[in-house]
Amino acid sequence: MTVITRFAPSPTGQLHVGNVRTALHNWMWARKHGGRFLLRIDDTDRDRSREEYVDAIRADLAWLGLDVDGEARQSARFELYEREFEALKAAGRVYACYETPEELDIRRKILLSRGLPPVYERKPADAPVPDGVAPHWRFRLDHDAPIVWTDMVRGDQSFDPKSMSDPVVRRADGSWLYLLPSVIDDIDMGISHVVRGEDHVSNTAAQIQMFAALGAAPPAFAHEALLVGTEGKLSKRLGSLGMAALREQGIEAAALVALLARLGTSDPVEPVTDPAPLVAAIDFAHFGRAPARFDEAELALVNQKIVHQLDHAAVADRLPAAIDAARWQAIRPNLTTVAEAADWVAVFDGPFAPPPAAEEDRAVLAAGAAAASGIDDWSADPWHALTSAVKEATGAKGRALFLPLRRALTGRDHGPDMAELLPLIARDRVVERLSV
Ligand code: GLU
Repeated sequence: MTVITRFAPSPTGQLHVGNVRTALHNWMWARKHGGRFLLRIDDTDRDRSREEYVDAIRADLAWLGLDVDGEARQSARFELYEREFEALKAAGRVYACYETPEELDIRRKILLSRGLPPVYERKPADAPVPDGVAPHWRFRLDHDAPIVWTDMVRGDQSFDPKSMSDPVVRRADGSWLYLLPSVIDDIDMGISHVVRGEDHVSNTAAQIQMFAALGAAPPAFAHEALLVGTEGKLSKRLGSLGMAALREQGIEAAALVALLARLGTSDPVEPVTDPAPLVAAIDFAHFGRAPARFDEAELALVNQKIVHQLDHAAVADRLPAAIDAARWQAIRPNLTTVAEAADWVAVFDGPFAPPPAAEEDRAVLAAGAAAASGIDDWSADPWHALTSAVKEATGAKGRALFLPLRRALTGRDHGPDMAELLPLIARDRVVERLSV
């Protein structure tokens, strides 16, 4: 069997960590099995869908490295939906309904007040049809047997169709609801595995009957537990967890991939820059049923570990020209984001004013300036030459020796290994910064 998965966003907003996670798992599953990963733009809702979001979705998937093997748009497939709809109508599996939302609401309330489940009640076949009212359409669930499937995450699932309302599949204005077009597409595109959030579980029960009604075997399903934020529901914060906002904060695509690949699974999060080992290891049996907790602090930490591994070539186009490979190598272990590299340009090349020197550090700094002027080969470990000379001249050692020099040369108390940093700052600048 060829594995074919799809990511099916509605282009009504930006991708956020929640739906990126779904996209990622679909992509990983397809790649693991040498299959295909398709992008399906669910744009049947013409009022809410926006072309700019379609572009942003494509760009975000590309940024994340989730290459797609094909793209389809539901808005271009209405003819197919119409054909299948007519076939289901002819077979009696979809039927016209005339209730107004108010009527349905009253029915619901009556049922609830009697302690009954608010399941839609079908009208008898000979019920009068109101004049001049355009119908909406429901799919007739088959009540004969329970709906069962073995979910790759949730295990055995069973739904009693009698406890479910016949789902509305088409509105009175002819527009489509999500359920039926999705099944028609999954059949037409040969989707083998549907990976999506557990908020779709009850849709799946209805959709499994739609597959059968359309003469197709259903795909395999994996419904993953939803993401929650550290303070509960993620949905309120999704704006700030969009890809554009995260990119802005300096989050690397690889960090998102590494974290979201494993969040909510029994496998540890590994800060890898290449997703290959994650792809090889994905297994829906390792996914938990409990909501997965998304923590921005954890993302920042994974991000930092990723940044520390990135080669100069991988980030050169985002670095100031002054940060060449050697300078990147020197500062990389001290960065939390790639953008912070820009803060180091002034340390290397100026303009830079050393912080005012403390009285007790003056001797060390002056000796440092003298020592630096005397070092002819600045490329050969000048830091050790400089510190030995200062130690000899002043008797300073340890922190009293190193800290004043680091401060005067970088303006900070902590930072990269000075032995690595010093040859990358011109000698004259060093002399100037140490001259007090
Ligand atoms: N457009 C649907 C959604 O975003 C797709 C669900 C599915 O994967 O079938 O919820």
